Amino acid sequence: MPPPPPSTTIINRTTSDGGTTILNKYHLTHLLGRGSFAKVYHGRTLTTNTAVAVKVIQKPSTSDPTMEPRLLREVAAMRRLNHPNILKLHEVLATKTKIYLVMELAAGGELFTQLVKRRRIKEATARFYFQQLVSALHFCHQNGVAHRDLKPQNLLIDEHGNLKVSDFGLSALPECKKDGLLHTACGTPAFTAPEIVRGKGYDGAKADAWSCGVILFNLLAGRLPFDDSNLADMYRKIHIREVVFPDWIRKQVQVIVWKLLDPNPETRMSIECLMTHPWFKKCLNVPDPTLRILELREKYEEHEEHETQIKLKTTTMNAFDIISMSSGLNLSGIFEETGAKKERRFTTNGKAEEVKKRVVEVGERLGFRVKKMKVNDKEGCKKGDEVVGLVKGKVVVMAKVMEVVPEVVLVEMTVVDGGDEFSEGEWDELKVGFQLCSIMA
Ligand code: ADP
Ligand code: MG
Repeated sequence: MPPPPPSTTIINRTTSDGGTTILNKYHLTHLLGRGSFAKVYHGRTLTTNTAVAVKVIQKPSTSDPTMEPRLLREVAAMRRLNHPNILKLHEVLATKTKIYLVMELAAGGELFTQLVKRRRIKEATARFYFQQLVSALHFCHQNGVAHRDLKPQNLLIDEHGNLKVSDFGLSALPECKKDGLLHTACGTPAFTAPEIVRGKGYDGAKADAWSCGVILFNLLAGRLPFDDSNLADMYRKIHIREVVFPDWIRKQVQVIVWKLLDPNPETRMSIECLMTHPWFKKCLNVPDPTLRILELREKYEEHEEHETQIKLKTTTMNAFDIISMSSGLNLSGIFEETGAKKERRFTTNGKAEEVKKRVVEVGERLGFRVKKMKVNDKEGCKKGDEVVGLVKGKVVVMAKVMEVVPEVVLVEMTVVDGGDEFSEGEWDELKVGFQLCSIMA
């Protein structure tokens, strides 16, 4: 067998404990978590033995041109933000095939895991985390950075039980703005503000305020405010603010959540206004030792650990966030080099009937034969939704056109047959032809 290329042996070395030493600088051991486009490992510096977290990103294949700018955004956003509740980025390293982001370690793991364990979090504890989240966001917004992918999985806990906001992968720097408004649809559906879905440009700080409303509800109620196995129905609920509060959430807090979940960003409660609210200001900056001890105890009990954590995450993903896991919406598989994804979701403005017509006309122009398709309720279609089958050779694509709210249409396309012959380029061709916007950037 030929020896491995010399660069690999020098750069990365597997050690007897099963860990890996990278670039003769850090020793990586166990997996802390998986993100949508990376794995994060526990690590130590070889010189000082300081604990760190290292995010390992496979270098983008040429087929995904969006990856590089995403990564640069993450690095730039993390580097310029220095706040006690924002995860620090120590160093960025790279080999031929991988990029390593060396970050501050959040030893307590995800807030999400705590939520799963306890089902819901008591008001005082929820406020403690919420204050830290809001303070981090306020700081970000003042520095011209909006997070845009806020959800409990991106909220980590450090060894002292303090919150650290992570995952700035989708954040936008001010220079990315064209007319003062952001234009990239991004985020996780259940946590994504309605104006982002509408796709007409939005203010990142306002969108973050909306996500704060979802997070506060989620922490207190142990479930999402807007949840539906049918994505179109979920968006409908979001746009009309159809939310049912459990009775254990006090009225005063319900009002805050209600104001944050305002579908109209103009009238929505801002982060500044939230920070002046008496409920928010209560016990602000007062460390509550009992809270922290509780968090820490739970953390160490969890130490058996990430396998269970990952299992827990998978189970709750089904309950909490099943939609965001669907292949059309998350970034997993962003590095897949073979095989096109079978399903994509897009939004566009207009009426369902008009969009259906466009799909038929353009489909024919692109060489597809248009076929009526039968669908049943199980497939998530409602009366009035339009379904078009597009056939070219062995390829059969089903396009469901669903009106979410007036003038906003969700188009869900599924390759139901001949997927092997359906390439990335063909998705783009359909997307551009139908004048659609991807839900994820
Ligand atoms: P991605 O950007 O690919 O979504 P994340 O940055 O969200 O990746 O990381 C994925 C998971 O790894 C997180 O949800 C968390 O469980 C874990 N993780 C990330 N960063 C850290 C850290 N600094 N300390 C501890 N765990 C972390
Ligand atoms: Mg993440």
